[in-house]
Amino acid sequence: MYCPNCGKQVDEKAVVCINCGCALNFNQLLSKKSRGKGIASMVLGILGVVYSLAGFSILTDLSFLNYEDYASRIGYAIGTVLFQSVFAIIAICLAISERKEGKNGFNTAGFWLSIVTFIFVVIQFFAIMAY
Ligand SMILES: [Zn+2]
Repeated sequence: MYCPNCGKQVDEKAVVCINCGCALNFNQLLSKKSRGKGIASMVLGILGVVYSLAGFSILTDLSFLNYEDYASRIGYAIGTVLFQSVFAIIAICLAISERKEGKNGFNTAGFWLSIVTFIFVVIQFFAIMAY
C-alpha cells in the first residue's frame, strides 16, 4: 500500500510510515491499545469462576437450611452469589465492549469465563432456594 501522506510505498502491516512517520493502520493501533479491557475482563472472569467454585461449598455444609423463612433464605442466596455475579457482569461488559473492536484471546476468555460464572451462579441460587 501507499502512504496517504507522502505517497511512498510502505509495508501492508506497517503502523506508521517509515518515510514521514504518518500513522497508517489506525484500526490496528486501536485494537492493540484496547486490549486492556480484554485483559481486565479475563482477570475478573477468572475471579468470578474461582469465587463460584468456592460458593459450591454451601452445598456441602448446608448451613443455609437454618434460614427457614423465604426472605432470609433469599438474602443468603444473594449473599452467596453476589461477588461472583458482580465480577461476571463487569467482565462480560468489558469483553463485549472490546469485542466490538475485534475479537482476541483476552476478551474471548473473559466472555466465556463470565458465561461459566453466570451458570454457576444460577445453579447455586436455585440450589439454595430449592432445598
Ligand atoms: Zn509517508
